[in-house]
Amino acid sequence: MMTSNACEKWSEAIMSVSETIQNEFKSKIQGEVLFQESMARHSTIQVGGPVDIWIEPKDENDCKVAQELAQLHDLSFMTVGRGSNLVVRDGGIRGVVVHVGDAFQTVTIHEQKNDTYIIDVGAGMMMKQLLSWTADQALTGIEGLEGVPGTVGGAVAMNAGTPHGAIGDAVVSVTWLEKAKLVTRQAEKLEFAYRKAKIPRAATVLSVRIKLEKSDGAAVLGKLQELRRYRQSKQPLQQPSMGSVFKNPDKTNTAGKLIEEAGLKGVRVGKAQISPQHANWIVNLGGATANDVEVLIRLAKDTVKEKTGYILEPEVKIIGEHS
Ligand SMILES: Cc1cc2nc3c(=O)[nH]c(=O)nc-3n(C[C@H](O)[C@H](O)[C@H](O)COP(=O)(O)OP(=O)(O)OC[C@H]3O[C@@H](n4cnc5c(N)ncnc54)[C@H](O)[C@@H]3O)c2cc1C
Repeated sequence: MMTSNACEKWSEAIMSVSETIQNEFKSKIQGEVLFQESMARHSTIQVGGPVDIWIEPKDENDCKVAQELAQLHDLSFMTVGRGSNLVVRDGGIRGVVVHVGDAFQTVTIHEQKNDTYIIDVGAGMMMKQLLSWTADQALTGIEGLEGVPGTVGGAVAMNAGTPHGAIGDAVVSVTWLEKAKLVTRQAEKLEFAYRKAKIPRAATVLSVRIKLEKSDGAAVLGKLQELRRYRQSKQPLQQPSMGSVFKNPDKTNTAGKLIEEAGLKGVRVGKAQISPQHANWIVNLGGATANDVEVLIRLAKDTVKEKTGYILEPEVKIIGEHS
């Protein structure tokens, strides 16, 4: 049974966007608009409370209208992709979340000069789909991203990468919507760094221009398969997670090594666990809450600081409200 306190909180959440505003979103957006949509359904670690307004835009215009309405009604706004780098707190998100997904899964060759190919990729394209396309086309340059389960938009927003390369290394330019206006920025202006890119927080990345080189299709495929096998042997891919939780302080003292040496491998809080296979991963054993995950993140951070002096910085984005 819900306590009266919990009931109040729940109704506050529901009331945070009036019915009139909800109807306006519904009538002006062509794609799907959902209210009080559980974010656990949209994050790979499968935790998180409801978002007030969840939008599946049908096209660029839907994204524009969503930004305009959020601005007009002073609602917080953010864009997500696959939710593979997110911890949404159990209280959920007040405001609007736009999901750049299926409607933005396009890839075209923009230009070819000798062996150099410039391609335009929709931000909703899954990295896996894009890599499989590059192997079919015998194009090399981004194989290092094999196993990153998010969208191309999400990868660019946080410069996803591995020791074999980051997406920023291959980006020519990125196009996004900001305050309902289209903006294109060349890579030099985006200041790509370790899991960082200079893209405004409220932007909706729509497409990414990437530079690749002609290669041998079998070699590209072989590299992807090799990296996939490596991941399968080292990472708990069968369990819900968000990949690496913390950034590596440096190449020798990786976050995984520091957490393992702090004796935290396998430690559980509720139904969340620091993976016994890889200490920089937190897995959902089934029924974990965002709070379980956040408590583990804090425990890892505090223990590593106390034992080694290193201050671990989360790679994952922790968003939303406590319940
Ligand atoms: C099994 C597993 C393995 C992983 N391995 C790696 C790895 O090797 N390297 C690595 O870097 N990461 C890794 N990750 C983390 C994650 O997959 C990447 O960070 C990925 O690029 C996030 O993409 P996403 O679409 O899921 O973004 P989300 O998680 O949805 O969002 C992440 C951030 O990007 C922003 N964002 C997303 N889409 C857009 C958009 N269209 N416009 C504007 N902003 C946007 C969000 O606001 C948020 O701040 C892994 C995760 C898992 C679950």
